[in-house]
Amino acid sequence: MQLNVMNTVQWMQRANEKMQTNKDELTALDQPIGDGDHGINMARGFQEVASKLEEATYTNVSEVFKDVAMTLMSKVGGASGPLFGTAFLKLSTKLKGEELVDQTSFSAALNEAVNGLKQRGKAEEGEKTMVDMWASIAHYFTDNEHSTPDGLMASADAALEKIKAMTATKGRAAYFKEKTIGHQDPGSASTYFIFEALAEVWKG
Ligand code: ADP
Ligand code: MG
Ligand code: MG
Repeated sequence: MQLNVMNTVQWMQRANEKMQTNKDELTALDQPIGDGDHGINMARGFQEVASKLEEATYTNVSEVFKDVAMTLMSKVGGASGPLFGTAFLKLSTKLKGEELVDQTSFSAALNEAVNGLKQRGKAEEGEKTMVDMWASIAHYFTDNEHSTPDGLMASADAALEKIKAMTATKGRAAYFKEKTIGHQDPGSASTYFIFEALAEVWKG
């Protein structure tokens, strides 16, 4: 697993495609336990990200993530805009100055992203938010020296199942308490699509 400017840009563009394709599904997930706008928020934000990346040129991965962060913060809105913005900003900060990002650096950066999300959302793992999906991805890269796209997705699939069974205690979904059991967390589902995009680009 190695990131350079080219595959990072491809990753974000693939993530945008996934947000467009799964827009309605993400919005449907946000209907029973939220306000039904998550797909709209993410599709709008990632469309802006794709346009931004297309018109700019970058010399390192950190700069790409910085533009992703700034764009998501200003265009997504809701709870998830500042949260995804924070996660990508942490990736950017942690990877500053690195030409080629290897798995060790990427794991460290993902762990920083998780810490940033926890701080920003005042959330811990186990509260049925995107923190759970980001944390599971960070754990996968930290714990598996020989990471693979299929391994990543198997671990993300398992995380989705676990998150679905949780009770929400943060964000809008927290109002629905036990009624959230058995419903998927929209922010975890969109995070899943972001990393599914990474797995696809990584596979080539
Ligand atoms: P909003 O709830 O403002 O309409 P979205 O629907 O775009 O925002 O995003 C909702 C998602 O944001 C949730 O599914 C959850 O994953 C995440 N989220 C909400 N509040 C928090 C929080 N305090 N900490 C971490 N993640 C959160
Ligand atoms: Mg919502
Ligand atoms: Mg909203």
